[in-house]
Amino acid sequence: MKYFIILVSLCLGMTLASKARFDNYHVVRVNVDTEVQLNVLRELEDQNSGYMFWETPVAVGRSVDFVVPPHKLAETDVIFEKFGFKSLTLAKNLQTLIDNEGAADNLRARAGLEWTNYYPLEAIYDWMDSLVAQYPNVVTPFIVGKTYEGRDIKGLKVSYKAGNPGIFMESNIHAREWVTSASSTWILNQLLTSKDAGVRDIAENIDWYFVPVANPDGFVYTHTSNRMWRKTRQPSSSLCYGADPNRNFGYKWMSGGSSNNACSDTYAGKSEFSEPETAALAAFYTTVAKNITAYIDFHSYSQLLMYPYGTTVAGSISNEAEHIQVGTEMQKKLSERYGTKYEFGNIVTTIYVASGGSIDWIKGVHDTPFVFVYEMRDTGRYGFILPADQIIPNAEETLDSLVEMVKQARVLGYFKSARN
Ligand SMILES: [Zn+2]
Repeated sequence: MKYFIILVSLCLGMTLASKARFDNYHVVRVNVDTEVQLNVLRELEDQNSGYMFWETPVAVGRSVDFVVPPHKLAETDVIFEKFGFKSLTLAKNLQTLIDNEGAADNLRARAGLEWTNYYPLEAIYDWMDSLVAQYPNVVTPFIVGKTYEGRDIKGLKVSYKAGNPGIFMESNIHAREWVTSASSTWILNQLLTSKDAGVRDIAENIDWYFVPVANPDGFVYTHTSNRMWRKTRQPSSSLCYGADPNRNFGYKWMSGGSSNNACSDTYAGKSEFSEPETAALAAFYTTVAKNITAYIDFHSYSQLLMYPYGTTVAGSISNEAEHIQVGTEMQKKLSERYGTKYEFGNIVTTIYVASGGSIDWIKGVHDTPFVFVYEMRDTGRYGFILPADQIIPNAEETLDSLVEMVKQARVLGYFKSARN
């Protein structure tokens, strides 16, 4: 017994020791008012010296949130003073946010997910498997492909009848954006269980393809090792790992807003589709694209609803007016239930230039009629570490906006039958 206790303690100790902690790490927001300030922030990000940028500094006139480790606080004060940064401390202890977030790493979903905790990949996959068993005539599993570390990228199709138009739901391609897969799985569950007439309508008259965790290796890593991980996990240099999968898609790749520094959080990869995860998602999508009327991509955070393109060189999409018409009503719906305010617009004008994103590829290569990307809650109080008690409200307002998307698109003649 004594040896058992020692063994268990050792194992626990090893687990704790291998997981990065962020005690006394500050989360700071700075305004970027000048080109000089922008370049200073870019340099800090590129140094890879302990600062973690929650948003990449890309333009004058936008604020940037980043994490400052305790041993860099004094240096940061000097930099702020020297270059005249206006700053705001959003949090003084990142670890406290993480401790209070509601991660349930020790929970396995036996009777299903409850959306009051954030679950690890095995629990999400177990739950997906259970839906296939529970709804054999409606839910069909599919495998998008394999990750670099050999995991399946699992998906589910929800189809109540043949000949429906389709919606494709991608989430959690950025590993640390946990609320995105939590919300997409909640929405998937609502399509199967809700009695609301609006939800039943879109559930039964549309085929839904869900890929809740598009970057499983990165997602697992956020649960086991580093909550702040964003990228894939394929080695990118002798010292650094991963590419930003949402800068790795092969449409106008590396044409702004992405990095060729292998250690950067926005590293675009060695080449377009260098990451097995993005190559697999693109190959899978190609097999179903003709059935898809809308592609939805969930990210966090900032409360933004956007449409392609994210590059300055691509110009505007062919049916931009339709995106504006539909998206404006979605934006209203997002605030109706809880007053959550979203900004809405084209990626470049609403947020920044970001090339190689999945939605640019979806629109540019497949011309899927409607393509929207959400940056979900919040606006920076918790950032990526959104407390689990916000999962359901976040997902509810998102589902409201998806019901509205279909309603508005139908007015324009879409969603009447397969791919139109
Ligand atoms: Zn993201």
